[in-house]
Amino acid sequence: MDCIFCKIARGELGTLIYEDETVAAFNDANPQAPVHVLIVPKIHVANITELADKNLAAHIFTEVVPKIAQKTGVDKNGFRLVVNTGDEGGQTVNHLHVHLIGGRKMTWPPG
Ligand code: AMP
Ligand code: ZN
Repeated sequence: MDCIFCKIARGELGTLIYEDETVAAFNDANPQAPVHVLIVPKIHVANITELADKNLAAHIFTEVVPKIAQKTGVDKNGFRLVVNTGDEGGQTVNHLHVHLIGGRKMTWPPG
């Protein structure tokens, strides 16, 4: 399948800042803050509604997110996680990704 995030997750394109057996993470090409990392499952999952693997979901949120927050230094002052889903959710790449954004004060509501 010709999915750009599958290619990045396989290490065929770009640079990974984190990798384990099931998950990869890399810097967003168009960062919206000083820290803007995308966390993706290595298997192709189109979006959060397709993520059936509870262990993988738990792994991302309880292990990978804290590790990357610490590694990028945003764990102390806080950060934002975003999972855009579908057209109205603003999803532009159809491979599930969790945005980890930080290093500046966030505003609310989002655009
Ligand atoms: P979303 O709009 O939630 O689907 O987010 C897609 C994100 O992927 C955007 O923030 C893009 O800047 C980012 N992006 C698209 N292509 C690449 C790429 N090749 N490498 C890194 N980030 C990318
Ligand atoms: Zn994919």
